[in-house]
Amino acid sequence: MASSTANPANHLPYFFGNITREDAEEYLMQGGASDGLYLLRQSRNYLGGFALSLAHGRKVHHYTIERELSGSYAIAGGKSHASPAELIKYHSEEADGLICLLRKPFNRPPGVEPKTGPFEDLKENLIREYVKQTWNLQGHALEQAIISQKPQLEKLIATTAHEKMPWFHGRISREESEHRILIGSRNNGKFLIRERDSNGSYALCLLNDGKVLHYRIDRDKTGKLSIPDGKRFDTLWQLVEHYSYKPDGLLRVLTTPCPQLGSENDNIGFNTYPSASGTFPKSWAGGGIISRLKSYTFPKAGSKKLQSTIGHPSEEAPFNPYVLQRKRGPTEAERGDQREALPMDTEVYESPYADPDEIKPKNVTLDRKLLTLEEGELGSGNFGTVKKGFYRMKKGAKPVAVKILKNESNDPAIKDELLREANVMQQLDNPYIVRMIGICEAEAWMLVMEMAELGPLNRFLQKNRHVTEKNITELVHQVSMGMKYLEENNFVHRDLAARNVLLVTQHYAKISDFGLSKALSADENYYKAQSHGKWPVKWYAPECMNFYKFSSKSDVWSFGVLMWEAFSYGQKPYKGMKGGEVAQMIERGERMERPEVCPTEVYSLMKLCWTYNVDDRPGFAAVELRLRNYYYDISH
Ligand code: AMP
Repeated sequence: MASSTANPANHLPYFFGNITREDAEEYLMQGGASDGLYLLRQSRNYLGGFALSLAHGRKVHHYTIERELSGSYAIAGGKSHASPAELIKYHSEEADGLICLLRKPFNRPPGVEPKTGPFEDLKENLIREYVKQTWNLQGHALEQAIISQKPQLEKLIATTAHEKMPWFHGRISREESEHRILIGSRNNGKFLIRERDSNGSYALCLLNDGKVLHYRIDRDKTGKLSIPDGKRFDTLWQLVEHYSYKPDGLLRVLTTPCPQLGSENDNIGFNTYPSASGTFPKSWAGGGIISRLKSYTFPKAGSKKLQSTIGHPSEEAPFNPYVLQRKRGPTEAERGDQREALPMDTEVYESPYADPDEIKPKNVTLDRKLLTLEEGELGSGNFGTVKKGFYRMKKGAKPVAVKILKNESNDPAIKDELLREANVMQQLDNPYIVRMIGICEAEAWMLVMEMAELGPLNRFLQKNRHVTEKNITELVHQVSMGMKYLEENNFVHRDLAARNVLLVTQHYAKISDFGLSKALSADENYYKAQSHGKWPVKWYAPECMNFYKFSSKSDVWSFGVLMWEAFSYGQKPYKGMKGGEVAQMIERGERMERPEVCPTEVYSLMKLCWTYNVDDRPGFAAVELRLRNYYYDISH
């Protein structure tokens, strides 16, 4: 088995690999747990990240080290470093947020190697390839999909990845499998896997000196797969991975996947497999599981859009824009378990202008002839109404929500506000933010936006008390991702509340209503309002009320209130209190109580968001990471 040299921490004597938090605590206790004793381990939650375990006061503190998009490493919200080792060096001179300096490394005892999570890195690559190809995503959209949906994707990969593998031939007979293997090259170790029955048993068919051997792969009561008396695996691809570097009872190792008839890989021979860590020696170029996945036939997003409901995907439903629109056909396994729609399955995950065929109109001014409005209202306000509609684009009619200014309103301030909102929205492009499609000046001024059919989060939760804690955590985590994006791009929202989070599906939230939002210039980190306005004071941080100062940190305060609303199933915060009474309560140091079903971890994060002093309050980078880790923890 090739060693996983790609891990940038493997050479560090205090790096323990994929050990648990509890193991880390035990090691440090064994080492005396003196203040500043530390070790480094692989993050079990965060893709490509690490965790730092540090003893202080006879307790062990754990810090997540994030691998940033740029490839650098940082403790959430902290300074970036080129490698984990550099980060460690820095924190041995500067505490910079840690409970104390890193004083002494706890090194691995002799003979102890960094523990590899057998398929962690491989899985990471598989997830990446799967998302890239299934939904045709790249860059930021790809990263955001992986971060927000990691638990769901892991499950999907585990249960369906083999379907995408060239060696998986589905339900064919024993004779057919022999026929397929014996066509073309007859390399020893050429193999395929076929399905034997629908109870989840398979057969591994392996070529050895011109003869095909058949090994049964059975599934036990707990769902584990194994060759009789062999090692047990959760998934077929893990099994194939294992036997491709170790015969372990087989007559020989697996080498070349037998290509499927008619596949584009017919003549491609693959020699070997990547190591369990997913790293590929140079000489294997073109030969690893991942590269085969790349060249293999993932259904391409957009190749055929099925307008169908999850659960009945094979029936071509008549076009109904309000039913979830899938970007691709489902696989067999998905048909079987009727999985929930992921954000990436919907039409609003990416901007319609991400499609190279769809040219953004100049000044985002839309052609009224392409817009149809429906009867009935989605909502209303003093500005006018919000209606459902359709906007005709290159790839078909897109369901939209249209904010229409009251025609009779001659108040120029209302029009200016709408145009200001449009101006902010135009600059934003994130899966967790409602996008503007454009503006339209016709019988009235209209702001055309992506449709979030299920409406405001608070109202949805009021009506759906069965929604689980995990589901709420998933949604508020998505909101924190959208807010992290705003923070990174120097926008302050100023009206973040559950009523302004709209749901596309029960598992997909988007931030909306940018009527009060402001773009900050590069040299300012807050916006100063000239005077008190019509403000949502129960959502506002003390510095907004006292000094009219608004920043991403004051949005963090509002986010705390939003989390409180969500875990209270849409109840009003500070019920029965007037704005002034709320301000007094906050000044006295009191905060809202934990909602009945709110997990303690989330409540402590809420209270952290309600830190009085703005400089001591975390930013969204840290808040998002805390929620992410908690969400992954409860999803596993
Ligand atoms: P707003 O004034 O932006 O808060 O919009 C008023 C109401 O219109 C909201 O509470 C929603 O019920 C509805 N609404 C606004 N934007 C959308 C949208 N993009 N998709 C669906 N409904 C929306």
